[in-house]
This record gives sequence, structure tokens and C-alpha cells, in this order.
Amino acid sequence: MPNEEILTIALSKGRIFEQAMPLLQAAGIRALDDPEHSRKLILDTDDVRVKLVIIRASDVPTYVQYGAADLGVAGKDVLLEHGGDGLYEPLDLRIARCRLMVAGKPGSGLDTCIDGQGRRRLRIATKYVACAERYFAAKGQQVEIIKLYGSMELAPLVGLADLIVDLVESGNTLKANGLVPLERICDISSRLVVNKASWKMKHDHITHLLAALRDAVEHPDTDQPMPS
Ligand code: ATP
Ligand code: MG
Repeated sequence: MPNEEILTIALSKGRIFEQAMPLLQAAGIRALDDPEHSRKLILDTDDVRVKLVIIRASDVPTYVQYGAADLGVAGKDVLLEHGGDGLYEPLDLRIARCRLMVAGKPGSGLDTCIDGQGRRRLRIATKYVACAERYFAAKGQQVEIIKLYGSMELAPLVGLADLIVDLVESGNTLKANGLVPLERICDISSRLVVNKASWKMKHDHITHLLAALRDAVEHPDTDQPMPS
């Protein structure tokens, strides 16, 4: 591989950065700055041929699709919404795991939405419009989807929606707002994504990194001391 060839990896701060760093470290890549304490959006690493760009989680597929980053780490939720055009998805990193679920007030089943006039369409509030549409269409259920950008749990409490579609990890956020999980749509984890042109042009470099990451995913903590 050419000596001057740079690989750019896009990732978001917070849980994805925190959980991806041990894997990248096992693959020999350490960030020289902490995005939680730095305003830099481009971070150098101790490998001069690898840089990190820190962006919104939902922007990662776009950066990688257009080749602004060669690789990226993105949640399956974000990839399902984006559609995955222009991307390879060669590795499940098994981090930032959670479930995409339908949730609502206790007892608010999927057919309880009947008013004086008879049945009306269920209203579903979500940031995951494409996933929600696909899920209810597959069940043959006509619903009205309301796009929100966050705090979905509020929607059923103030009568904006009957149900929400959101990510659930422990269920504590739902519980704190008097909601319960009702149906699981799919399991979510973060994936390594690769720009299709980069895959060809920087093949050796990417293959090498991919193998190291796969090894780190399959053999977690091999460099940690064994508990006595
Ligand atoms: P933004 O803050 O830019 O709107 P976001 O809220 O989706 O983005 P994060 O909360 O950091 O950003 O989530 C990033 C990714 O982590 C999500 O796309 C999802 O794959 C995963 N994730 C989100 N919430 C959870 C959760 N509660 N448990 C585990 N993983 C989660
Ligand atoms: Mg969030």
C-alpha cells in the first residue's frame, strides 16, 4: 500500500466512540484527542495513516457514501433509515447494542385505537420513519407516521401519538415515562461501513484494518489480564 495513503474513519461521539475505541485500539489505532473534551472534528491518531472524523451518528452513512470518509461506524438503525446506497457493510462490531421496538402506554395494543366513529389509524411517533413504515406495512396495518427528532417518549403522554417506535436498551427511559415495550422490530448493533470506491482503491489498507477489527470483535479482551 502507498506510504502516504490516508484512511479516514467517520464516527459519532458518545457511546459509539467509547465502544469503538477499544476495538480500534486492538487494531493498533489510538485517537490523540478525546472528542468529549476537544472541539476538533478531525482527530489524528498514533497511526499517521489513519484519521478520525467526528460527526452526527445519522450523518455517518452520508459521509461514507460520498467518500468524504473511507470507513465509518454506524448503528444498524441509522443504516436501515439511510438505505445503505454506496456502502459495504462487512462487519458487525457488536457494540451499542439495543432493540428497535414499538412502545406505548400499558394496554395500548395495536388494535385498541377505536373512537366513536369506529376504527381510526394508529398514530406512530418516531425518528425511524422508514423502519416504522416497513414494519407496519409488512403487518398489513395502515398507520399514520409522525416524524420526530428526539424525546419520542413524550408523544403518547401528550396525545401526539398512540405509539412510538424507538431504540430500547434497558427499558428504563420507557419506564420512567410510564411506557412499556410492546413489540420488537429488530435487534440493533453498530456496523463497520466502507465506501465502495475506497474498498477498491485502498484495498490492502482496508483489508488489513478489517481483519484486525474482526479479530478484536471475535476475541474481546484478549490483552486484558485474566481475573484471578
Ligand atoms: P443524535 O444525537 O445525533 O441525534 P443519536 O441520538 O442517534 O444521534 P446516540 O444516542 O449517540 O446518537 O446513538 C448513536 C447510536 O447508538 C444509535 O444510532 C444506535 O445505533 C445506538 N444507540 C442509541 N441509543 C441506544 C441505547 N439506548 N442503547 C444502545 N445503543 C443505542
Ligand atoms: Mg441519542
